[in-house]
Amino acid sequence: MSPIPPLPFLLLFLLVSAISAASHEDATRRTMEEFSGYPIHSHPSVLSLSPSSLSVDAVGLQRQIDELAAFSDTPKPSVTRILYSEKDVLARSYIKSLMKEAALSVREDAVGNIFGRWNGYEAGLPAVATGSHIDAIPFSGKYDGVVGVLGALEAINTLKRSNFQPRRSLEVIMFTSEEPTRFGISCLGSRLLAGSEAATDALKQAVDGQNISFFDAAKSAGYNICQEDLPNVSLTKESYSAFLELHIEQGPILEEEGVSIGIVTAIAAPASIKVDFEGNGGHAGAVLMPARNDAGLAAAELALAVEKHVLASGSIDTVGTVGILELHPGAINSIPSRSHLEIDTRDIDEKRRNTVIEKIQHSASKIATDRGVKLSQFTVVNQDPPALCDESIIDAMEAASRQLNLSHKLMISRAYHDSLFMARISPMGMIFIPCYKGYSHKPEEYASMEDIANGVKVLALTLAKLSLD
Ligand SMILES: [Zn+2]
Repeated sequence: MSPIPPLPFLLLFLLVSAISAASHEDATRRTMEEFSGYPIHSHPSVLSLSPSSLSVDAVGLQRQIDELAAFSDTPKPSVTRILYSEKDVLARSYIKSLMKEAALSVREDAVGNIFGRWNGYEAGLPAVATGSHIDAIPFSGKYDGVVGVLGALEAINTLKRSNFQPRRSLEVIMFTSEEPTRFGISCLGSRLLAGSEAATDALKQAVDGQNISFFDAAKSAGYNICQEDLPNVSLTKESYSAFLELHIEQGPILEEEGVSIGIVTAIAAPASIKVDFEGNGGHAGAVLMPARNDAGLAAAELALAVEKHVLASGSIDTVGTVGILELHPGAINSIPSRSHLEIDTRDIDEKRRNTVIEKIQHSASKIATDRGVKLSQFTVVNQDPPALCDESIIDAMEAASRQLNLSHKLMISRAYHDSLFMARISPMGMIFIPCYKGYSHKPEEYASMEDIANGVKVLALTLAKLSLD
């Protein structure tokens, strides 16, 4: 016999092995689809993704959270990191270096929103994005926002370690200035990404407490921009097929109820109002009561009216707060001649919230008339619509939580986030994790590594699913 098999036998052998390999692959894929609950594409490395293969490097993530917290203008455990400050610039390069370590392609826009992209095998499709912010108000904590940026990078690294290959590209975003600390505009980066003309206009005159303009501050941080560059920051609605944000709850519900994951269904719509009353003032002893027009009492009456109108909505989701009430001249023996109020009101129902604003305005006019004071300002500073999370993203987050055997509940975000503005250009979803006593915006802010790692896993699995859709 010849040591080489005749050609027809060889061909048959090759054909049979090819068929058995293919049917083996089909069986594996079927098992994976049944197990994970979503279709697995034929791309070979996707086959290896299963919830149990997701291993989060919690120790490394905690180290990064601590390293980032060190870029602060106040001593630990507090964190203070203000937009375009020296510490903010250092923190930004830290994030960019982590993105490069994760082999992401890094891009930065004119105002310093930072993007790190992992190209999918169909890179032409709209990407799936996730991210949050790293700026921190004075004397706050190290988890607000940070968990959604460093956690997003760890989600990407986790997927890479499990040999997952995304179909759509996956992108991590670090948003510029979610906090309004320096220029009074919250969610600056995401508002501009969503094409907000109001934010673009507001930035033209914006100055900080030291009278430094937004553009000079940006320049000092290395962003050499002018007004004309701002509209270029905006992204089209075709940029992302989904946007996700992982965030600490900043409220006590998840911790109190012992639930691991909060799946956000809607973000309440904030509005803020500035009101000024003016009266004649006068000596606290000499001017008799019938002759007074007290701007301070007008403000006090309006504050109570805010509470009354909010409660009258009949919904637990309607809230209103008079967080600022200033009296001029602010002396014990002087009738207030001017008063200034700033009112924050929110609801998940925009119409209901706008009704509250109308009632507050009506009360302000009536109080001014009744008390003989002048209503010299009633300005609705911002009146953002609420955002509903996308149904299919909610389903994907719920499925991921179930696959990971994590307790979860649907909830509303009463604080707002960059997601509120990303929802204008992309289907959006948010994942909450518990935080100690609901503390946030103070040094005691804390989330356990276990809870953070759970959030990262839910994020990773949801990103994986959405990237294959
Ligand atoms: Zn935040």
